[in-house]
Amino acid sequence: MSRLTPTTTESDEDGLQLDDVVRCISREIDLIHLCARGARIPTMKMVLGKVSEGHIKEVYRLFHGERRGAKARSLDFFTETVERRKDSSAIVGLYRKLTRESVADVATYVMLHSKYLAERSVDPAFDIDELIHLVCAVESGDLKVNRCPNCGSVVVMSIDEIGAEKHCPLCGEARNAKSRIRQSTADPVVFPSEERIKQVIDMFVTPMRNALELVRCGARPPEVEQYVPGYQSFARKLWPAVLGKPAPQGPLPFNSLFYVEKGERRRQTAFVIKLFARLKKSGLTDAELVLTLYRAYQSAFHGSPEQMHFSRIRGIIHFYLMSELRLVRCPKCRTSYVILKDELFGEQACPCCKAFSIAQEDALVRKTVQRSSSIGMIPPLPGDQKRRRLLRKSSGENAVLGTRLS
Ligand SMILES: [Zn+2]
Ligand SMILES: [Zn+2]
Repeated sequence: MSRLTPTTTESDEDGLQLDDVVRCISREIDLIHLCARGARIPTMKMVLGKVSEGHIKEVYRLFHGERRGAKARSLDFFTETVERRKDSSAIVGLYRKLTRESVADVATYVMLHSKYLAERSVDPAFDIDELIHLVCAVESGDLKVNRCPNCGSVVVMSIDEIGAEKHCPLCGEARNAKSRIRQSTADPVVFPSEERIKQVIDMFVTPMRNALELVRCGARPPEVEQYVPGYQSFARKLWPAVLGKPAPQGPLPFNSLFYVEKGERRRQTAFVIKLFARLKKSGLTDAELVLTLYRAYQSAFHGSPEQMHFSRIRGIIHFYLMSELRLVRCPKCRTSYVILKDELFGEQACPCCKAFSIAQEDALVRKTVQRSSSIGMIPPLPGDQKRRRLLRKSSGENAVLGTRLS
């Protein structure tokens, strides 16, 4: 099998698998959760891999406005005060329960953070950035974790601290000590509600889902870009995974003439225009509008030999909005159909009336054919064979006439 020649020269346009798309969507959700819970850019890059800084800032601003996060915490931050040690210990205790065998992923951190927020004691509470750093420091051995011999609770300690019973935030002697509190330079983080997080997820994930849906319908990358700005390259990568072939390139090879070449197309085009106007009136816009329109068209004309693909449907809207196609209604049969802007209404027959008159003509022809063929089907008269033989024996002129008649 010969390889298809690449349709693009950009090096980053590698094929994308559907799994990748699903991963992309879940990564976007992770990013939003991390921003909502106050993660800093380097931490996000560490847990998410390559991700656009501009995009992180855009999402972060939605939750926290212009708030600047705290600088990276040094390790002593986690054990600096009794309250912080208490929270650090609580987090590590919860973390161990959550991740018995599995490796921590963003979803685990998010779950851990929301569980922690329910039982926090320090104010301001640890944000998810601090939480991830704490867990990583414990995992890498930069902080140690012991159990208090007296009460059995988990105690997070710095490497050089000794005696879990002394530092135990629940029963240790240090719990009453006046602790030195370092003022943070950052504004305290305000954690958004779950509803608000969901709203932002919808806001960012919906375009990605729409782009995927448009590609499924056969939308070309520039068409996806038109309805979901910023998703052209994503759509180009999606094409091979979703449709099994690279996205076509170049301008569309048709103009408004296509829609009036056949009566059936005039009729279908009218259906699309009327539905478009109705959907627009109902408040739908962009991707939602065109997706609803295309799906409705598909189910209305499923199996029609003149069924049009996505680009053709988009073309209808385009030419209609450019006033190159006009919607008219036949005064005789009340059917809607389209004409070109410079076509005169009435000059061309209505596709429905035309189809009807063709059908009538057909019926007439069928009747005539039936009548003429039924003449030949009359059974021969008795003695016919003998009569023909006699005729053939007589003059050649008559014989020819005889065969012609039979
Ligand atoms: Zn204790
Ligand atoms: Zn008509």
